[in-house]
Amino acid sequence: MARKILIAGNWKMNGLLQDGTNLAKEVANEVKKLGKPECEFLVCPPFTLLDRVKKALRGSKVALGAQDCHMAEKGAHTGDISPLMLKDLGCTYALIGHSERRTNHGESNELVCKKALSLHASGLKAVICIGETLEERESGKTIEVCTNQIMGSVPETANATNTVIAYEPVWAIGTGKTPTATEVQETHAAIRKVVAKKLGKSVANKMRLLYGGSVKPSNATELLALEDVDGALIGGASLKATDFMSIAQSVCGK
Ligand code: PEP
Repeated sequence: MARKILIAGNWKMNGLLQDGTNLAKEVANEVKKLGKPECEFLVCPPFTLLDRVKKALRGSKVALGAQDCHMAEKGAHTGDISPLMLKDLGCTYALIGHSERRTNHGESNELVCKKALSLHASGLKAVICIGETLEERESGKTIEVCTNQIMGSVPETANATNTVIAYEPVWAIGTGKTPTATEVQETHAAIRKVVAKKLGKSVANKMRLLYGGSVKPSNATELLALEDVDGALIGGASLKATDFMSIAQSVCGK
């Protein structure tokens, strides 16, 4: 089953107008030089940069995504941004359920599910993030936690076109640590089985599962070659065009 590789950058709360625009321009230019046309690229800058980055990406095949959204279309939600507003700005994707949102903002599976539904209703694609903490991993609960997160945060409207799942072990995010390639493949295969249980085998076989958590140029080739890894969600290394592109090159340059 051929699934289109997705290389996605999560800039988090980084970038001012000038450096964010420059980074987007560099990525857009470098992506044009890559050999393999069947890879997809995505950058998710902070809300403040979406409009500038959209302009910087004009004419390139790099998609624009947000890092979060509200579940409502509009209304009395001070400080929030709706999927419709993101669409209006040119976004085609939004990350939801990132562990930093689940931890720092107390976001539950139920809320993430509502956000996914709202993104789908607005015609946007959801990148739903899941992953276990170190404590959960050490007590052998990795698959159980991921199963609960998928069951609770992936809505029935999800299909292989409008949804991507990003497996990001919390303990691997920004730490330089990663599970072994064998562990990543095992977890991704288990995640695909859970998706099959929830949405059917045909959807599960087509749905992209990204790995995220300290992906860098030195480990990208091994991680991105795994059977059930269909791309990467990259945090820190997406802030340097050379690192982001070197990761992309490892799978999309051949
Ligand atoms: C992330 O936060 O989505 C992430 C994967 O971060 P990093 O690559 O820095 O570990």
